[in-house]
Amino acid sequence: MANYDARLSRRALLAAGLGAAVAACGGSRRRPTAIATPPPTTKAPTTSPSPTAPPRDPATVKANELGVIPVLMHHRLIDKVDSEFDMTPAWFRAELERLLAEGYYPVTTLQVARRDLGHVPAGRSPVVLTFDDSSRGQLHYAKGSIAADSAVGIMLDFAREHPEFPAVASFYLNKDPFALGDPHRAVGDLAKAGMEVGNHTYDHIPLRLPAAQVQAQLGELAAMVGTAVPGLQPRTLALPLGVTPSLPKLARAGRWRQTSYRNEAVLLVGAEPAHSPWHKSWDPGAVPRIRSSSYGGGRGEFLSTWWLDQIKAGTVTRYVAAGNPGHVAFPKKYADRLAPAYRHIAVAY
Ligand SMILES: [Zn+2]
Repeated sequence: MANYDARLSRRALLAAGLGAAVAACGGSRRRPTAIATPPPTTKAPTTSPSPTAPPRDPATVKANELGVIPVLMHHRLIDKVDSEFDMTPAWFRAELERLLAEGYYPVTTLQVARRDLGHVPAGRSPVVLTFDDSSRGQLHYAKGSIAADSAVGIMLDFAREHPEFPAVASFYLNKDPFALGDPHRAVGDLAKAGMEVGNHTYDHIPLRLPAAQVQAQLGELAAMVGTAVPGLQPRTLALPLGVTPSLPKLARAGRWRQTSYRNEAVLLVGAEPAHSPWHKSWDPGAVPRIRSSSYGGGRGEFLSTWWLDQIKAGTVTRYVAAGNPGHVAFPKKYADRLAPAYRHIAVAY
């Protein structure tokens, strides 16, 4: 499967038809087109008994830190779904159950971008849960507390029941997060819950804009976050509608009034798992995501159920942590996938 990455990319993009798959945030009504064939049953990787256990032989956990990382993209959490951008709260809870059962461990986009994955227990696979648009279903309140059926509430409850799957996700905000009329509370509670706060532009505008407007959109959102929680800054960006910025450098870093901003990773919309940040094809300026939805039973091609089935079946090789921070471990046969800059920390077995 040496060339699976290239084939995967081309196939995903071609089959998804780019236009339909890449429009997001309520734009596309592309219907599920195919139901994935059920994969053969495969064994999930062994779960580490303890994240503090000493590093072990990477072969014993089949470590592969050059494998793919699914970055799941969520939009609205809502009881009545009417597009591929919607998911019921029950479906989200079931998604967490599946991810835990299949050996995943939640990390943030920023942790992937910074290669800060040493805390992922040996044998487990990082997954990133992302939420765009800061809509109400992601964070709302009941009797003054975070509502149990909001995305944040569901993750906090799930983590209480399953401490081995912490409440960790990356939220991409626009102005007036979660329609609370209170950015201080919204951003503060996200940060308190341990979530990453990311940039999705102030007005939810695709960044095909002149330089001043790109910087205004990213800087104003960053300023809102920094005002709500002093010292906090968004460090990753989800592109509105997945539209490629006309000035990619300004999507990564710039300045608006008194606010400098810097985005260490830029998230796309479609339609495949992301490379490991140690993989030679990792590109922090264009990190693909997988849409997660309960629309149509969540069975559309290239949706999260489809990709998680592919990963489970072994069609795509997933990242499996070695539990050995400061190193990157992988089977020797994948050595040509390592970015040359990390040869000095490689543990090939
Ligand atoms: Zn959006």
